[in-house]
Order: sequence, then structure tokens, then C-alpha cells
Amino acid sequence: MADKRDYYEVLGVSKTASTDEIKSAFRKKAKQYHPDLNKDNPDAAEKFKEAQEAYEVLSDDNKRKMYDQYGHAGVNNSGAGFSGFGGAGFSDFDFGDIFDNIFGGGFDFGGGRTSSKNRATRGSDLLMKITLDFEEAIYGCEKDINLDVVESCDDCDGKGGHGETTCSTCHGSGSITTEQHTILGSFVSKTVCHVCGGTGKTYDKKCSTCHGTGKVRKNKTISVSIPSGIDEDDRLRVSGKGNPGINGGSNGDLYLEFSIKNHEYYKRNGDDIYLEVPITITEAILGCKKDIPTIYGNIKLTIPAGSDSGDKHRIKGKGVDNKTRRTKGDMYIILKVITPKKLSREQKKIIDELSKTDLEDSVINKFNDFTKKNDK
Ligand SMILES: [Zn+2]
Ligand SMILES: [Zn+2]
Repeated sequence: MADKRDYYEVLGVSKTASTDEIKSAFRKKAKQYHPDLNKDNPDAAEKFKEAQEAYEVLSDDNKRKMYDQYGHAGVNNSGAGFSGFGGAGFSDFDFGDIFDNIFGGGFDFGGGRTSSKNRATRGSDLLMKITLDFEEAIYGCEKDINLDVVESCDDCDGKGGHGETTCSTCHGSGSITTEQHTILGSFVSKTVCHVCGGTGKTYDKKCSTCHGTGKVRKNKTISVSIPSGIDEDDRLRVSGKGNPGINGGSNGDLYLEFSIKNHEYYKRNGDDIYLEVPITITEAILGCKKDIPTIYGNIKLTIPAGSDSGDKHRIKGKGVDNKTRRTKGDMYIILKVITPKKLSREQKKIIDELSKTDLEDSVINKFNDFTKKNDK
């Protein structure tokens, strides 16, 4: 292999390029020279191989150091690793698959995800559905919530074991280099070490508390303040009460969703409260002053003479005080005239007397006319 080009030159990056810059430069070159996209360019495959080789060295801190110091001799890649095309059966391979493998999740390019186990990671969010009484939802409440959270194991400090040693499989690097022989040549890829999971360390004794996972499920009770006016299907975020972060990462959040129990009398529509108020036939005819139970205590409401079933009265500002939306609803009173079912002979007589006087409303007269006409 004569006249090997400088790896930095091959990727078009400076000698001080970061791992990310190298990675991104390689992606560009790989796309540019991918043989599948360059059928008319016989040099493409060679260029592709060259970029791949440069990347393999420059993306690895150790190899890069060796290369910087000793040049190509220091990394001596002219042998097996990049032995070129032949070999693997053409039909077995799809270029798309190969690309997926290179840029997809399965492989690691070193420097990045290999160390992910030690990186500060935010804890995951939790979602919980809780049921509130009607009153708890409209007035707000303090609620004790029982949660299962995943926490770092105290017994092993989240390491999963005791007696730390260097992983013998990856020799502490956390990754394993594998070669894949394909139509495009041999890909040298790094995968996360399956023995130590990328930490580079193993333990003499597996932690019995967490069974080696470094994490334990703990049951916790936390007190959450539910603001007044929470409604069905509202979602409340309780910051920092989700699963704990890993390696110093912040906690996830807890999300609460609500199911609200019905009330015997009140009905809720958004922030408005509806209440059906039964009145006697006498109260409906003569009118009255009626005690009305609102969610803020009783008030007196004047029911006018001649009220009907279904008449609606609005009481402003006596609905739900919604702290989340900063709105206040109204209360609506719906009258329901209760017709007496059991009357004494005396009472029946009085009612009958009443019907002999002309009390018929114009609405009734008008409707009776319609019925008559309809009869033809
Ligand atoms: Zn290992
Ligand atoms: Zn443990």
C-alpha cells in the first residue's frame, strides 16, 4: 500500500477536529462515495474504503494518538481490517442494511455511546391516574400518593456489585471491536461490551439487593397539592417527582390524570355547577324565597310566582374557582316542580275547585288550538 493519504486530509478535517466533527465528516464522505450511489464512478469504492479506514482510526482516541505520533506505521491498518471487496456473498447483502448498521442504533463509533452508562441521565416521567371526590376536585386538596420509583441501589451505590475489577472481556474500554466482512469491504465496528454493559468494570460479587442492575424499585408516599378546579382529563405535572435521575441527572416528572366522582346533587360542566332544585306546586304558583345550597354555603334565591319546571336561574360567581385556569364559573339552578302524587279527598276537592276558575295560560290555549286543528 503505497502513498497512503493523510487520514485528516481524507476526511477533510483539521488535526484538532473533535470526535463529533470527525463523525460528521465521515458521514458526508460515506454518503458521497457510497458505491451503491456511484455506479458510474469506479473510484468511489476506493474512496469509500479510504474514508472508512480514516474514520476507524481517528474516531478511536488510542488509535488517533498513535497515528498522530507515528503516522500510518503507528496504526498499521493495511492488513486484514481493510482487505477490500471480495469475500462475502453479494446476494446476502443489501446496501440499505449496511447503512442502517453503520448509522443506526446497533453499532457504536466509540467516544459517544460507549460511555453512556456513566453519563448523567434524567429520570423517566411517571403517569398516574387518581380518583378524586367531587369536593376534592372543586376545592383542591392535599393528596398522599403512593408511587413505585426506580432508585439507585444504596447497597452497591448503583454499581450493581461489590469488588470492582476491570472487565476482562473489553479490558476496561467498555466496547468490543468487531469486523464485518461485506461487499464493501470489512467494516470495523465497535459495540458496547455485553459483559460490563459499557462501564469497563465488572464486580467480584453481584449485588444481591438489586440483582446486579444497580437499581431498585422503592415504594414512596409523597404529598401532592391538587389545586382547586381540577377537572376530569386534566393533567397535572408534579415537577421532579418521577423516577430519579442516573449519575446525577435530574429527576423525571410525575404526571397526574384525574377521574372525578359524581356528586349526589351537583353536576359539573367545566367550571359551572348545575343544581336541580325541587319545589312544590304551591311554591311554583305563588313564588317563594328558597334556600339554595351552593358550593360556598347557602344563599336565598327568589323563585318568582308562576315558575315552571325547567326554569333556569344563574347565580354568578358561585361555580368552581379554577386555580389552574384562573377562571371562576357560575352556578345554574334548574327548577323541578314536583306534582303531588297522594292527595286526600279534601285536597282533591280544592284542586278541582281551582280548575274551575279560569287559570288557563295563553300557552295552553294556543296548544289546545293546535291540537284541535290537527284533528281534521
Ligand atoms: Zn467489558
Ligand atoms: Zn445493588
